[in-house]
Amino acid sequence: MTTAKPQRAGSFERRTFAGLAASLAFAATACSVNPYTGEQQFAAYDDAQLSQASAQAWQQLRAQTPTLNSGPQYQRVQRVWSRIAAASPKAGEQWDVQVFNSDDVNAFVMPGNRVGVYTGLLDVVENDDQLAAVLGHEVAHAIYRHANQRATRQAAASAAVQVGAAAAGNSGLGVSANQVNALGSVAANLGVVLPYSRNAELEADLAGVDYMVRAGYDPRAAIRLWEVMQQNNSQRTADFLSTHPNPDIRQQRIREYIQQKGY
Ligand SMILES: [Zn+2]
Repeated sequence: MTTAKPQRAGSFERRTFAGLAASLAFAATACSVNPYTGEQQFAAYDDAQLSQASAQAWQQLRAQTPTLNSGPQYQRVQRVWSRIAAASPKAGEQWDVQVFNSDDVNAFVMPGNRVGVYTGLLDVVENDDQLAAVLGHEVAHAIYRHANQRATRQAAASAAVQVGAAAAGNSGLGVSANQVNALGSVAANLGVVLPYSRNAELEADLAGVDYMVRAGYDPRAAIRLWEVMQQNNSQRTADFLSTHPNPDIRQQRIREYIQQKGY
């Protein structure tokens, strides 16, 4: 990571111009190919940067909430996760998979191949296929680099708003002080609090279904999962329970996708 030296802001015009220049430089350096999908992606950070940024938040979570290291619930998560991860483009990669002992009906993924599953979720899903639907959704977020997309959007907004701050210091080295600041400000929330976009959620739903099929799980469990979640009516927010898009739309999209793919 390269940090630029902030410069004192000049007149309003100069600051405005510098801000514009920073935004353009930001856009020019932010395109890269996603190694897992082969698609061009607007991503301001490389995976190592985000992994580093989320390490602290991950440690805090682990310090706050007890984790299971053995027993049936632990084994169940490890077993289903192993099958799903092996069926995804991230097969063979090392993961830190933690089972948090908490009533939260939740699961999440963080940059750096970190995944968390709460025991409250294990009490709600009816079978391993439904758990596989949740985990397929989560690994898809990692594969499509949705956390990077989200951080990039936030950094772009920040670069556009904070006109002038450190803009002149961006000499084409790729990372401006604005970007560094934005990365710091989102680090604590990576993968946990901030919602993904509606499109990211749908993308994760459908890709997750692909991994389920490859891993030998019943893809229809992804539809049933949403019915179960609606019946459960939990007040707790979970990544896969994001209010956008609404559960009915998600079920419909998954149903159409399964039909279209002939699963
Ligand atoms: Zn999600």
